[in-house]
Amino acid sequence: TLQQWQTADAAHHLHPFTNQADINRQGSRVISHAQGAYIFEANGHRLLDGMSGLWCCNLGYSQPRINQAIAAQLEELPYYNTFFQCTHPRATELAQAICNKAPAHLNRVFFTNSGSEANDSVLRFVHRYWDARGKPQRKAIIARENAYHGSTIAGASLGGMGFMHEQFEPLRGIHHIPQPYWFGAKGDNADMDEQDFGLWAANQLENKILALGPDNVAAFFAEPIQGAGGVIIPPDSYWPRIQEICRQYDVLLVVDEVIFGFGRTGEWFASQFYQLEPDFIVFAKGVTNGFVPLGGVLVSDRVSEALLSHTNDLAHGFTYSGHPVACAAALATLDILAEGPISRIKNELSQTMRDYWLPLADHPLVGQARCKGLVGALELVKDKASKQRFAGNGHAGTVCRNMSLQAGLVMRATGDTMIIAPPFILDRNEIKDLTERAWQALDLTQAQLQQ
Ligand code: PLP
Repeated sequence: TLQQWQTADAAHHLHPFTNQADINRQGSRVISHAQGAYIFEANGHRLLDGMSGLWCCNLGYSQPRINQAIAAQLEELPYYNTFFQCTHPRATELAQAICNKAPAHLNRVFFTNSGSEANDSVLRFVHRYWDARGKPQRKAIIARENAYHGSTIAGASLGGMGFMHEQFEPLRGIHHIPQPYWFGAKGDNADMDEQDFGLWAANQLENKILALGPDNVAAFFAEPIQGAGGVIIPPDSYWPRIQEICRQYDVLLVVDEVIFGFGRTGEWFASQFYQLEPDFIVFAKGVTNGFVPLGGVLVSDRVSEALLSHTNDLAHGFTYSGHPVACAAALATLDILAEGPISRIKNELSQTMRDYWLPLADHPLVGQARCKGLVGALELVKDKASKQRFAGNGHAGTVCRNMSLQAGLVMRATGDTMIIAPPFILDRNEIKDLTERAWQALDLTQAQLQQ
């Protein structure tokens, strides 16, 4: 029963990103089943999943072709590894299929189990690359404040969330520059026009490279749009300038597409959406529709050439690198995505999202509504004109997240920024329904905050 699950859970289960006091007080929320774009709590409450799980079940929860591919693979070859010159058909087919979708200059894939491991792997490849190029002193890494790149030591060191760095000693040699967060611009930047702000934010990369010495800088890591950091959609001026700076100083560009890879912008990869030429694309989550774990790294031709020219073995890998069951799930996911969901985002749903999501800016609590492809954010403010926030450092966001559940919608809160990343399978009416529920959640939040 629900109560038995909650009791056992409180006693035995260490939850990621959870405060145990909340579990002790309220019990865990037990999600017992799912269908299409909806999840169901064990108490029967139905929720429209506006977050696609953790940005991964992009095709929703009911995909029998993926289930069948998993079952068939378990019969055919449930496990083999890809170490010591071995492969198996699904890993090879998937590597080829992913390269066929990626920008033309990325033609090799390294498989991991997760996005965190994929970012760890890139760090090791970056060092090997500069070693092979005879510049082993190029070790400094630049990433961005408030970024999320995973929870391993390397992933969390790359990430720029202060509260995560408090829990351990981050790896040395990783530096952070400001995020292109125009709504949050402060001081002299607060009055900047959006495109000027985008250039300012991009130029922080050049400043950091010059401060560290260009010959010491190995790579720049960034998400195309920061996801967990608050759906920070960069101004249009941002990415072209970043690309220019990376080229000018020969700094490797690592685009972490764990959230945006496999369609969320309406292109297979956000690097295509922003016309980037990355040296690495990091992926995970949506590659298997979240049904089984799989992550990986797409590697550019110039980098793989250097990596493979190194005289030592590529001494790096995981027992489950290219797990056959995960690869089978991914191949089925890619087949389904190729049949229309991604082009539907490009041709129809991004506009539908703009039509319904952006008017949420009219709500008295919303300082800004923004969206791109199938992600959106709302900035909760106490005063629209001055963008003044509510007291309590994220309290309003937490209230709104809870009220959203009451309204039958899963939204996520990052501080006082509400985030949405719905499944690609929604139709126009469901997107309208989603935004109506969001509006209702805002009304409930307003009432609660006024109490
Ligand atoms: N990179 C980004 C941009 C992410 O959003 C995440 C997870 O949310 C990760 C990396 C880490 O991926 P994983 O949780 O699969 O390790």
